Amino acid sequence: MSKDIISVLPDAVANQIAAGEVIQRPASAVKELMENAVDAGATFIRLIVKDAGRTLIQVIDDGKGMSPSDARLCFERHATSKIRSADDLWNLHTMGFRGEALASIAAVAQVELKTRREEDTMGTLITIENSSVNSQEPCAAPKGTSISMKNLFYNVPARRNFLKSDAVEFRHILEEFERIAFANPTVGFALHHNGNEMYRLEAGTDSEWRASLRQRIMALYGSPYNQRLVPVEEDAGIVKISGFVIKPEFAKKTRGEQFFFLNKRFIKNSYLHHAVQSAFEQLIAPGNHAGYFIFLDTDPKTIDVNIHPTKTEVKFEDERAIYAVLRSTVKKSLGQYNIAPTLDFEQEMSMEIPYNSGNIEVKMPEIKVDPTYNPFNTTSPAKSSNNEYREQKNLDNWEVLYNKHITPVAEQLHTGHQIGTPVHETQAETSVSVCIQMDNRYIITTRSAGVLVIDQQRAHERVLYENYITGIARHQVQTQQKLFPDTIAFSPALAHVVEANLGAFQSIGFDIHPFGNNTFVIHGVPAGTEEHDTTILLEQVLQTFNENEQELHLKPLENMARSLAKRAAVKPGKALSNQEMSALVTQLFHCEQPAFSADGKPVFVNIAADEIDKRMKR
Ligand code: ADP
Ligand code: MG
Repeated sequence: MSKDIISVLPDAVANQIAAGEVIQRPASAVKELMENAVDAGATFIRLIVKDAGRTLIQVIDDGKGMSPSDARLCFERHATSKIRSADDLWNLHTMGFRGEALASIAAVAQVELKTRREEDTMGTLITIENSSVNSQEPCAAPKGTSISMKNLFYNVPARRNFLKSDAVEFRHILEEFERIAFANPTVGFALHHNGNEMYRLEAGTDSEWRASLRQRIMALYGSPYNQRLVPVEEDAGIVKISGFVIKPEFAKKTRGEQFFFLNKRFIKNSYLHHAVQSAFEQLIAPGNHAGYFIFLDTDPKTIDVNIHPTKTEVKFEDERAIYAVLRSTVKKSLGQYNIAPTLDFEQEMSMEIPYNSGNIEVKMPEIKVDPTYNPFNTTSPAKSSNNEYREQKNLDNWEVLYNKHITPVAEQLHTGHQIGTPVHETQAETSVSVCIQMDNRYIITTRSAGVLVIDQQRAHERVLYENYITGIARHQVQTQQKLFPDTIAFSPALAHVVEANLGAFQSIGFDIHPFGNNTFVIHGVPAGTEEHDTTILLEQVLQTFNENEQELHLKPLENMARSLAKRAAVKPGKALSNQEMSALVTQLFHCEQPAFSADGKPVFVNIAADEIDKRMKR
């Protein structure tokens, strides 16, 4: 007895499965719908979103529209007007034309399409749900197309539950919106979220494409970018390169300003990224990322088509040649614009210090310690008058110093204490430890059982982090009010992050309030950070916060504590007084987790006495 067991999946199910690939989250629908609008030759595209796309995603364009029968056909799987012949297929596949987007969307949302071509008097209105058409009727409509999709994944609860918070989903949407807006500077865009117009980007003119791109970058990232852009341009046959790189002095620690567009579609390619990054070599501090908006045009035939079209990774046939052209083009542009390395590397260097790296040249520490000097005696600070005496005395005391048992850890901790602020005198006896600073980045101190080499930045970060965490938990965070409030304008995307996390900023001590138009007023800063430039500090904290949120999915308060600690911590390159070092060491060892920075990197290295004995061949 034989029974056939294979059956063909019903369309709706097949489409739902396909949708899983194409539409992973609201942002993927935004990308597909906006790209369709661009392909339709729209000059203005409006994106309307509710609840980060959960409730509504609507894209309205003034493009060429569809005939009544095309309007019906476009929801069929593999329905596309963009592939006509096999040759086209080869060319267009790389642009993601598979005729699957609308079919997928219709499988996982309640969709309404309204469209009219210029030549038609009446437009068409279609509603479709679960891959089946509910209604199709003629209607009055402006030229162009409007597609709205409601209640994404309403019929696929597992996927709906899988969506992240609104803040996260909305950021993905913004990311797609930005990419498409950068890729098409001659098209106008608007973005509405929950009834507010967040962006309105004017269309530039074709004849001045580069000027349009510059305008677009300023509209999305802020007018200061006008000064930061260096044009790149090259036509090398296999590839045409145009766009901008960001001047090296504005390179950032966080990624996010790296844009490659291949044939006007955003792509990622780490190999080409490396080409640009290496052109910036020597011009930016290690650990910083080159920023760029680079448009590549190549014959689609030279692109590897075996890469998933909805993904943004792309492989080129002739990758090495493109690498070489790109690198030299960027180098040339940087050279032409006379960009000399003017960076203070010591200041810029931060978390990427190689730990235990064999390459670090270990210098003999200079001894600048007077063991009889009481670092906490704030009434007689060690000023230059003392120094000569101290240095002489140090030499005399060299041996004494290293044989002496020193109590490394204070018994008390003044919780609110920061580097540089005076410590109460009663702590003096208990917290004295002798510290030497090496290379302006490590603090060396002794313990009975050996020597401790402490990374000053990570130590301070750990101390601040734990202070913030306890401060927040006990509602004891202190704000230093400013005499003159600062006003800061952020890009709409970052302003959105601030708004969404206003509570976290306030909990840690920023007295910050929205002022409309992506602007914020800062009346106060967390106590202990007042010596920082408020604008820079806030920008940096926000960047780190944003990055942590995306990559580590930290809770806002934890994230805020980490981000501020990282940015407010003393940096390598800063000379510390013995008093400051001693206070820092004391506080470090009162932390719950002194051994690791908040992001898990070692804070100190302990060289045990017996290890030293061994090396001394005792
Ligand atoms: P693809 O873009 O790969 O062709 P889609 O499923 O995204 O597949 O769209 C199917 C077809 O529907 C397109 O080829 C195009 O002809 C038509 N279409 C989709 N969106 C629009 C629009 N906004 N304006 C005009 N035509 C559109
Ligand atoms: Mg499409």
